[in-house]
Amino acid sequence: MNTAFDNSDDMRDLYRELILDHARNPRHFGKLDDATHCADGINPLCGDKLRLYLRVNEDQSIAAAGFEGSGCAISVASASLLTDLIIGLPSSQVQNYYNAVMQRLGVPGADDAEPGSIDLGKLKALDGVREYPSRVKCATLAWQAMNSALDNQPTPVSTE
Ligand code: ZN
Repeated sequence: MNTAFDNSDDMRDLYRELILDHARNPRHFGKLDDATHCADGINPLCGDKLRLYLRVNEDQSIAAAGFEGSGCAISVASASLLTDLIIGLPSSQVQNYYNAVMQRLGVPGADDAEPGSIDLGKLKALDGVREYPSRVKCATLAWQAMNSALDNQPTPVSTE
């Protein structure tokens, strides 16, 4: 077990609680009627399906975000954390978070651009899934859907 990032059991418990809280009470759950961007994410390995909605301002900042769908606790918590985080941020910074999360979760082919000195904050709670490689796709699903939505790619993203 790699404890280089977090060797505190207390922190581990805190992060587990955070994930469970977001899974049980997802923030920004529901369709966003006036979305400007939208993308589907599918993780066939686990059965997670979600649709991510974004409303992007003319200045490219995120005005609103939401998601709907169903999936395991990790996929729902990750989408909840994501939408909670990105509202109000410029899309360039959202891209930095995307890169940072992909790198931290060790996703192959992750853009290794320097994510800059961003504060991951609650997103560190997702680090725990690195110990369970099959769950990494659950954690990254919403992020990949968001990235696809911002790129306006018309096809659904699949983790496969
Ligand atoms: Zn899952």
